Amino acid sequence: MLKELIDQFYIENQKNRDQTKFYITDAGKCPRSVFFKFKNAPREPIDARLMRIFERGENMHRSIFNILYRLRLGVVTEIPIPSQEIVSGRADAILCLPTGQAGIVENYVLDIKSINSMIFRKMTEPKEDNVFQIQLYLHFFNIKKGILLYIDKDLQEMKEFFIDYDEELCKSLLAKFDTLKDQVDGDILPARLEDYPKNWQCNYCAFKDVCKAVNPDKMSWEDFKKKMESAE
Ligand code: SF4
Repeated sequence: MLKELIDQFYIENQKNRDQTKFYITDAGKCPRSVFFKFKNAPREPIDARLMRIFERGENMHRSIFNILYRLRLGVVTEIPIPSQEIVSGRADAILCLPTGQAGIVENYVLDIKSINSMIFRKMTEPKEDNVFQIQLYLHFFNIKKGILLYIDKDLQEMKEFFIDYDEELCKSLLAKFDTLKDQVDGDILPARLEDYPKNWQCNYCAFKDVCKAVNPDKMSWEDFKKKMESAE
């Protein structure tokens, strides 16, 4: 009984999931799934267990912030990117680290990711979508270096990867947001991922049922809705 009450609490207190703008965390995500979020397409109900996992990750972030402050690394945390039209986001922290040359420090954007042990153990390089995200933070803060810090949420081990700003990559990521914005505004549902359904994103996608039910290629959102209505 208590278990059900706790689950219910999580479900009832979830944040508003309506999407009205792009987030930096959308970089690298399937454009069709982001489109579905904008259009509030039918999705699988969110699981209270998953919400507890996210909450645990957020708490882990706060513990790291606390340590960074105590280390006096010139830290600012949870900093929104400068406002502009296309995308919003909040970097975990900006740090000031010594360069090794007396009295000279350098700014870094820090992005913290908590992941499960199995993925952590195998990890020899940062995940591509995480690199996309930190690249955009570097771009919007005009900082040339970043650190992706991964924490094994089961064993509490850490790995860090240093990232150098890549201007061309950022331009291509922003161009993809522009294209997707045109599709959202023009009611054009993007195509499925090329490697659907093998792509890892499809496994975790809350829209996999609606995605499967319609054309794999681009289609008009009105046609999509008609197709879904006729299937009901
Ligand atoms: S199932 Fe895969 S291709 Fe379809 S919307 Fe989700 S992530 Fe994209």
